[in-house]
Amino acid sequence: MSRPLRLKGIGASIGVAVASARALPSGRPRVYAKIENAAVATELRRFEKAVAKSRAEMEAAKQQLTLQHGSTYAPIFDVYLLMHEDAVLIDAIAEAIRNDAINAEWAVARVAERLRAPLLRDTSSYFRERARDIAHVEEHLLRHLSGEHRTERVSDEPVVLVGHDLSPADAVRMLAPPTVGLVTEVGAGSSHTAILARTFGVPAVVGVGPLAREIEDGEDVLVDGFAAEVTVGVSMEERREAEARKGRFAAFLEGERQSTATTEDGFAVTVTANVELPTEIEAALESSAEGIGLYRTEFMCLERQEPPSEDEQFELYRAVVTAMAPNNVAFRTFDWRGDKRIRADDLRERERDWLRTQIKAILRASSEGAVSLMFPMVATVDEFLAAKAIVEESRAALVDQSARAAVLPVGMMVEVPSAALLADRFAEHADFFAVGTNDLAHYTMALDRSDGGASATPLEPAVVRLIAGTVAAAQRAGIPCSLCGDMAANPIELGLGLGLGFRSVSVPVSVVPLARAVIRSVDLKRAQSVAEEALWCESADEVRKLLDEHLAKHLDPLWKASDL
Ligand code: PEP
Ligand code: MG
Repeated sequence: MSRPLRLKGIGASIGVAVASARALPSGRPRVYAKIENAAVATELRRFEKAVAKSRAEMEAAKQQLTLQHGSTYAPIFDVYLLMHEDAVLIDAIAEAIRNDAINAEWAVARVAERLRAPLLRDTSSYFRERARDIAHVEEHLLRHLSGEHRTERVSDEPVVLVGHDLSPADAVRMLAPPTVGLVTEVGAGSSHTAILARTFGVPAVVGVGPLAREIEDGEDVLVDGFAAEVTVGVSMEERREAEARKGRFAAFLEGERQSTATTEDGFAVTVTANVELPTEIEAALESSAEGIGLYRTEFMCLERQEPPSEDEQFELYRAVVTAMAPNNVAFRTFDWRGDKRIRADDLRERERDWLRTQIKAILRASSEGAVSLMFPMVATVDEFLAAKAIVEESRAALVDQSARAAVLPVGMMVEVPSAALLADRFAEHADFFAVGTNDLAHYTMALDRSDGGASATPLEPAVVRLIAGTVAAAQRAGIPCSLCGDMAANPIELGLGLGLGFRSVSVPVSVVPLARAVIRSVDLKRAQSVAEEALWCESADEVRKLLDEHLAKHLDPLWKASDL
């Protein structure tokens, strides 16, 4: 394939890196074989040894991560470690070796495939991620069965890792110098690999698709985490430009740590952070985020079969709330299935219990600082009322136990078109709205957010109208309305958001300084007239052109150079 080759993916960790590629082996062909009955015992011992080695490797990665970043990320490994003892996986593999007289490789692949298949059929990204967890453990077991080791460092020259995917254990070992960038064939912004790339500050583009396999060892690769783009076969000129951008971005971040967010014509905008894990709090404080506008609590459950206990959750929430004080933390209740809403009025009893437990923990934490609570994926007024009733039930239960539980604002994400269309009705019951443009755009445009195919943009005029209607309804009702979807994280789209009336935005922690700088470059009156015009456009392209013409050119050259 000719060079330069440009691959689009998902920007999992912002920043720019340019270095030569180190292609990770994509798994050797495995020999699947029947074995003699007499060889079964030996095969079982071979399998047990592989399990022990794989478990030791996971333990070592967990310890290394704890050493570097404290205990917060360690639970990422607990699920993998548990899987090494899981009857459904490990015992089933041993049984397949014993009963079917097949070699360990075949048994591992067969059982893993059987466990993965139903998860992959689910459209939810959450379950697909769980399927990937199984694949990671499978990969580790197969690797140890073959005696193969992941290539260790061959030189200290900076490299961009290129592979199908990285397991968390591999990520911990490999996302360290000399690795300066990461490109993977599969993956999502919420995957463990993406989280760890952000933690280690390694620019990453994931989910670039099978063309990643075209990248050869030693080729020059440019990873642009801003534009979610990978260039293979980089010219000297591009390399120089990338190095310069890297330097400018580092200097810019330094200069923006304490900056303010007031538009060019003097309107103050609140910039808060979206957070998935407690370790991000430190970065949120460092970048002077004015609170947490969206705390995605479901991330604490990624590694476990069940959510943590009420006390465990309370401790975690309390730590976040006190660290952020006096600023507010908006906890979103578990958003289990992302693209499949769970109606609060027909939750299964188990899920209802989990929700009660969580709400109680949040209510308890709310007496320690400024806290608000919001529900994801709300589609009908009835279900919002049912969810609010659970808050009251939980509060009553706490009072019965003589526990402290403050009265806190209860709001909702507006991310389902029905909620946006009925925003005025919802505004009678909600204390605040947080607009989630990621889901709102996909539901409006009938595109599946989790299938890695075409994605929807909030610049679709239909979405712009839904957002405008939501903001207007909130203004009429006098309730706060913030923008916490990724529209706020894109500098040009953020300008449109301000024009549509948002005065509070919440963005990924790493984007907080950038968002403030963008806001300072926006003239609100100009943005408002652009937003009015956008409402009458016929296509997202038309809206994009409008923004390019009237808002983008006012941005600092840094953004243009970064092609954000
Ligand atoms: C959204 O849908 O825009 C949103 C902020 O929620 P999440 O990305 O967690 O689904
Ligand atoms: Mg959402």
